[in-house]
Amino acid sequence: MKYLFAILICLSLSAISPAQDASLPQELDSWFSEGVIRLDVIFSGKADETSYALSGVKREQHYSGPHSKLVDPFDYGDHKFVVRDAVSGAPIFSYSYCTLYSEWQTTTEAQSVRRAYPHVLRFPWPKSEVTVEIHDRDKVGEFQKSWSVHIDPASIFCDPGNPLVYETVDLEIHGDASEKVDILFVAEGYTEAEMEKFLKDAERSAGYIFSEEPFKSHREEFNIRAVKSASRDSGTDIPGEGIWKNTVVNSSFYTFGIERYMTTMDFKSVCDVAANAHYDQIYILVNTDKYGGGGIYNHYSISAADNEASRAVVIHEFGHAFGGLADEYFNSSVAYNDFFPLEVEPWNPNLTTLVDFDSKWKDMVGEEIPVPTPGEAKFQELVGVYEGGGYVAKGVFRPMIDCRMHTNDAVFCPVCSKALKKMIAHSTGE
Ligand SMILES: [Zn+2]
Repeated sequence: MKYLFAILICLSLSAISPAQDASLPQELDSWFSEGVIRLDVIFSGKADETSYALSGVKREQHYSGPHSKLVDPFDYGDHKFVVRDAVSGAPIFSYSYCTLYSEWQTTTEAQSVRRAYPHVLRFPWPKSEVTVEIHDRDKVGEFQKSWSVHIDPASIFCDPGNPLVYETVDLEIHGDASEKVDILFVAEGYTEAEMEKFLKDAERSAGYIFSEEPFKSHREEFNIRAVKSASRDSGTDIPGEGIWKNTVVNSSFYTFGIERYMTTMDFKSVCDVAANAHYDQIYILVNTDKYGGGGIYNHYSISAADNEASRAVVIHEFGHAFGGLADEYFNSSVAYNDFFPLEVEPWNPNLTTLVDFDSKWKDMVGEEIPVPTPGEAKFQELVGVYEGGGYVAKGVFRPMIDCRMHTNDAVFCPVCSKALKKMIAHSTGE
């Protein structure tokens, strides 16, 4: 016991020294050892209130993120979590993200109904005790701490078991997980007998991503894997047609009542499947030919494998989930109310409310371009500030008349492309 105590003291002392440096350039080895600690957290509440509760602590094998710059430089997203060394209080890791829960909070239902969504926070296995904080955006868009929990990695209650064990296949590997963007395709609505089809679908879907810039020129910065997570039934839930299937991650069309919006509320099962492999980004591929999908920043992408528009949808949804890109369209029905409040500058790199345009793509707009920019043919190919985006026709502005985040026929605009390239550079440890 005394011996153990001495080791703990040593760990704490060695852990304190890097925190003396205020700029805190974080290296993985300073604070973390092999593996991943996973906190299962329940988000619950209504439109304007949220509570968080810890529901489990697990140990996973595969940490795939960079080994330096562990404090997230982007601070995108509706939430972030911050891991602090419990002794010094120094931030040693952070990660920004969005959730289906925070989208649901903008729906009409959330005004009157309380719901709960499972969420998962993952970070490298800490060498000593840490405090984990969840921060949420306040009314002016700033992150504020809303919850915290103390975690002791030496606790006997860290469960090392993975409840959903499946075989993983390497589809395209270009290097070590810490230096690449690792995309993991998760099979959803494929039976055991349909696994060969899943692998072909996953390969084809990865090919869609690499068929377009900026991914095309950066293909070697990515690793692609696929996990053969078989479902009991083939297909997915289509509540509007009375179709309900027993599938491994419980996906469904008609999210928030919108037919094409296919998601899963069961993120815990998604992470149980994904725990079988290295990943930075989860892509849930659904065995259906019905049009639809979704992409949520640093949460997951999901789409139909077999629809004729699947290529466009795969690239678009990956733009959301990987790049934090917002929808630039404003002419399709959605369930959200005031998704982008007009008095707040959105955190997404490709929209502005002009509250703080200096922080956006101002440096990419030519001097001769009027701001706002009229949606006229002569500006078709030029970066400007075009009104309409983020589901509303007024008050939210986008960078180009057309873009991959606006319609299925366009490619990423220069602003979206630049944001994606920055994300690739960060994920590959540059
Ligand atoms: Zn764009």
